[in-house]
Amino acid sequence: MIGNRFRWIGVGGDLRALTTFIGVTIAFFGAVLIAVVAWTGWTANVTAVERERGLVDNALDQSIIRVLNEQKSVAWWDDAVLNVAQRSVNTEWADVEIGGYLSESYGHAELYILDGDDQPVYAWVAGESAGGGAYARRAADFAPLVREVRSGGQEYARVRDQAFVASEAAYRDLLGPLAARWDGHMRGRGHMLAVDGRPSVVTAITIVPNLEFDLIQARPFLLVSVAPIDQTFVSDIGRSLLMPDLALAAAPSRDGRRNIDRFVTDDGAAPGYLTWTARRPGQRLLTVILPLVALGVLFVGLLAMTMFRRLKRASGDLADREARAQHEAKHDQLSGLPNRRHFVERLQDSLDALIQHRNGGRVVVAYIDVDRFKDVNDTLGHQAGDALIVAVASRLQGALAPGDFIARFGGDEFAVMRRASCPEAADELAARLRGAFEEGFDVHGQKVRMTASIGLCMAPDHGVSPQEMMRNADIALYQGKNQGRDRAMLFCAEMAGELEARREIEVDLLAALENGQLSLHYQPLVSCKDGRVTGVEALLRWKHPTKGNISPGVFVPIAEEAGLMPAVGAFVLARAFEDSKCWPDIEVAINLSPVQFRHVELVELLENLVAASGIDPSRFVLEVTEGVLLESTDRNRNTLDAIRALGFRSALDDFGTGYSSLSYLSEFRFDKIKIDRAFVTGIQERKRAMTIIQSVVTLGRGLGMDIVAEGVETEAEASVMRLVGVTELQGFFFSQAVPCDQVQGLIDAFAPSAAQPRTESALRKLEQGRL
Ligand code: C2E
Ligand code: CA
Ligand code: CA
Repeated sequence: MIGNRFRWIGVGGDLRALTTFIGVTIAFFGAVLIAVVAWTGWTANVTAVERERGLVDNALDQSIIRVLNEQKSVAWWDDAVLNVAQRSVNTEWADVEIGGYLSESYGHAELYILDGDDQPVYAWVAGESAGGGAYARRAADFAPLVREVRSGGQEYARVRDQAFVASEAAYRDLLGPLAARWDGHMRGRGHMLAVDGRPSVVTAITIVPNLEFDLIQARPFLLVSVAPIDQTFVSDIGRSLLMPDLALAAAPSRDGRRNIDRFVTDDGAAPGYLTWTARRPGQRLLTVILPLVALGVLFVGLLAMTMFRRLKRASGDLADREARAQHEAKHDQLSGLPNRRHFVERLQDSLDALIQHRNGGRVVVAYIDVDRFKDVNDTLGHQAGDALIVAVASRLQGALAPGDFIARFGGDEFAVMRRASCPEAADELAARLRGAFEEGFDVHGQKVRMTASIGLCMAPDHGVSPQEMMRNADIALYQGKNQGRDRAMLFCAEMAGELEARREIEVDLLAALENGQLSLHYQPLVSCKDGRVTGVEALLRWKHPTKGNISPGVFVPIAEEAGLMPAVGAFVLARAFEDSKCWPDIEVAINLSPVQFRHVELVELLENLVAASGIDPSRFVLEVTEGVLLESTDRNRNTLDAIRALGFRSALDDFGTGYSSLSYLSEFRFDKIKIDRAFVTGIQERKRAMTIIQSVVTLGRGLGMDIVAEGVETEAEASVMRLVGVTELQGFFFSQAVPCDQVQGLIDAFAPSAAQPRTESALRKLEQGRL
């Protein structure tokens, strides 16, 4: 049981570990899956924004190159060199071909021409020609750009005009051998700069001839353009990039859906913000797929959870069922107590421990058998019997000391095991167990007084194996039952011997029945009135082939116990009926065992005997003991009544022994009472016995019964009995039981003769006969 419970705890633990493992795995991979989807979506968005931003940047670079190309269309032109760099600036020409043209055609807001020393010689600002002085406010800001153009170096970290620089190289190639002379003359540079706080494309380009290369100057003039990056500018870029709402704003937009990026110019100023609605390729992943995946993970998690719950319940059920089966296998259903198997296991454990420790400890085993439990079953019914068993079980349990182990072996048998430190524990246990039966039991509203027989034995004194212990406790119990029940017996070695002898008798008796070793002897009953033999009592005799004569006092109880009594009893009845034909004038008394009342269809048997033999049943006196009355079941009473109704007469045998109560005499109709020889032998010295006999005689005769005194051994006893008023005498004083063929001699010997006192003359006659 214990082992199994642990086994199941083990399975529960495994299951829990497995559940946890799978749960954690699902949670982990679920989280990873969600994270991957979220991350993919998010990075897709981020890279898309970065890419778009890159495209915008690229477009801005392109627009610088565009502006440079626009400038180039006028700056790299013979006419320009001629009109701007020769002598003094031809302002009218410049207004038309440079200022007017570039501002109107391409939207350049400011145009400046610087001479070889970078001094302004021409300006076009706000749609009209302005004096070179207009450049003063830009000179400082544009100086790095001017230097770049002059030197070909790099003044700003950001380079936006590579494509144009590449085209310069193409031009240089065009020059052929002149290229070495003009290296660095054909140059244009552009940047994004903050101009008056507004982002602008600022470009500077050399003014050089395109055909008449002789016009080239050592330090060419420069054309500087400012093209503001306004909304139109940005929108154009947006349209080309399929970013329709690309905008440049002074302040960051509040619209959360729009992407915002600081617009930083090459000179480090941050004159505004670029905003646009970014394409978010990861958005579908984040808004549709991610929730679906999350739902999926949740669903799988829930599914797994319910599955595990089911599994757990199922395995729990299984464990429960297993535990129940285990429990049932080791427990008695009716009382709920452990059963024999369980008891044996426990006993084995205790005995093992005892042997291991050898510390003078003891293990006591007690067998408890409820006396006459069968009567309760027979009279009150099986349900009542069950109720009684349950009541006894709980009463016994209540009587035990902590640590005692009780079991029910079935029927009305219980067993208790106790581990003790001293031999006295057996007595203590016996006292407790007997105490449990002191009070009556309430069975279906009826108060039943029960007793129990208890057999005890002790390890290691009486055995060290469960088998030995249980056998010996059983032997002690058996002994207790034999000695009249309602007692506790501690096993001793002789008991085993006695039991062995009983077993032998049991076996031999069966053979004796078949082999004709049994016979009947008859002991006469002598009338007190006239000394004649009024009847004989049939007494069983067994001549054992090796053990000699065995007394019925020995083998009858064994036969009763072994279930042989019905057969033996039937033999006695048949033989007595047969023999009785020899002496038709006297009664024949036959002993009936209480067992015959239970097991044999006694009435039927008697009926058949009467019918078969044709003998008047009133010649037979059937002797029963108080046992039959004690087991005062309705069945026994009915049987008694039926026997009497058939015409048989009845006698209450061995009166005065056991539970004898005068109340039986008024309760049951008997024809005779046989006072037990314990009251008769030596009666003349026993006042108390005398009083009892007197009251029995008075009551019995008052009720119209005959009184027989058994065991009359002396003349004195016979006289006393006659005096008291007994009707018949039986005993060795008159005769022992004799074989059938000698009965007639007895009858004749006791027949009345004129001269001598009846008894004496009969005895003398007998003696002469024997001699
Ligand atoms: P019981 O029915 O009381 O029989 C009388 C017993 O007393 C007989 O013993 C008898 O021999 C003995 N007895 C008679 N007179 C004297 C006497 O003066 N002194 C002494 N000491 N004993 C005397 P027995 O034959 O040994 O039978 C013993 C018991 O066995 C009987 O006691 C009876 O209970 C039982 N029994 C004998 N035969 C049968 C039988 O056929 N059927 C049944 N059911 N029981 C039987
Ligand atoms: Ca008798
Ligand atoms: Ca008797």
